Amino acid sequence: MGFVNKLMGGRKGNGEDLPSATASFATNTADGAIDTLGTIVRTMGEISFDIDDGAPEELFPTQCTELACHVENGAPVPSLDIAGSNDGERRWGHVRRFYIDRRQSERDFVNSRMADYRGVVEDLVGGLREIAQRDRETEFCINRNLKSVEAAVATGLLPEIKATLNQTIRNIAESLAQQKQDYEKRISEMNQRMSSLRQDLLSVREKMSRDSLTGAFNRGAFDQAIIHCLNINFILNQPVTVILLDIDHFKTVNDTYGHAAGDEVLRSVGDALARSFIRKTDFVARYGGDEFAVILADTTAANSATLLSRFYEYVGEITVPYAPDGVRLGCSSGYTEVIPGDTVESIIKRVDSALYAAKDAGRNCYKYAEAEVETIAAKSA
Ligand code: GH3
Ligand code: MG
Repeated sequence: MGFVNKLMGGRKGNGEDLPSATASFATNTADGAIDTLGTIVRTMGEISFDIDDGAPEELFPTQCTELACHVENGAPVPSLDIAGSNDGERRWGHVRRFYIDRRQSERDFVNSRMADYRGVVEDLVGGLREIAQRDRETEFCINRNLKSVEAAVATGLLPEIKATLNQTIRNIAESLAQQKQDYEKRISEMNQRMSSLRQDLLSVREKMSRDSLTGAFNRGAFDQAIIHCLNINFILNQPVTVILLDIDHFKTVNDTYGHAAGDEVLRSVGDALARSFIRKTDFVARYGGDEFAVILADTTAANSATLLSRFYEYVGEITVPYAPDGVRLGCSSGYTEVIPGDTVESIIKRVDSALYAAKDAGRNCYKYAEAEVETIAAKSA
């Protein structure tokens, strides 16, 4: 039965029967309106964005899906504590309030983010201007001192030249030290200014391509993400860990149990990674073939080791399709923490050498690559 009929029992407000054409028109209109409203509510959930309200990511889409069903047929909405009713009655007040509250939260979120970003851009421009000014002062100081050296040399007096040179070195060193201090102060101010945007900046997931087999991000996405991480590491000065992982004896899996079994293993490893590195900012990519890469923003090497040990527990549970019981899969990994001055190449080189060390150590373990000394400290799984 249509919505109007349900509400009015096919009668006018004064109790008279509706003319059949009018009743059918009203029914169609009401049903169409209900369908449209249901679609709007459902779409709100499907095309939503994170407003950083601390609620779990999937809560709002769930609320919208349930509320859309409520609009369409009066179903209960457990996620909003709205009970269903036997006669299909809707809680229109709740639906309106839900929509209005969300729109207000979204507007507040966008306004506050815009203000934050505007502030950061202003700071950045101001900072660049100050840095340019600071550079000019340093240049001026160096030129002035070099002129006095020239003048001293012109006198031809050795003690005079020596004294001037000493003074010049002191002045220039002092000026450069001051310049360095100013830069560091500036970066630290930027860092504080950006703290409200930290979560936005750390997250690079949007619009990045996925590997169709495993669902992890693909190599192109990784190449973008790692550059992003280097920039963030520079500005926010927060620890970033990079992990590179390679499945052990994967060729044998393919050769012995078939390519389909190999594909299944790749999916299982991707799944184990997704279950181990679960933060919004954790970035898991298929690096190529049987290799995966993980970027962990705001994570020290020590914390990464804890996460890796959880990952290896999951790896231990992976079964190789068609293989007899007891055939277990192994993975070797290298991990390292990003340090100031690192480039993509230096990180990959370091983490790759740690991965090779893990292979050399007998496989199915993880090894840490120390950044400063470029030596690989053994931390077996
Ligand atoms: P190691 O322990 O030294 O890593 O030995 P390995 O046998 O794993 O050697 P390697 O890492 O070089 O093997 C990679 C293999 O992965 C070779 C390639 O045929 C296979 N491979 C690459 N992409 C895919 C894929 O999408 N599906 C399947 N099933 N196999 C793949
Ligand atoms: Mg391999």
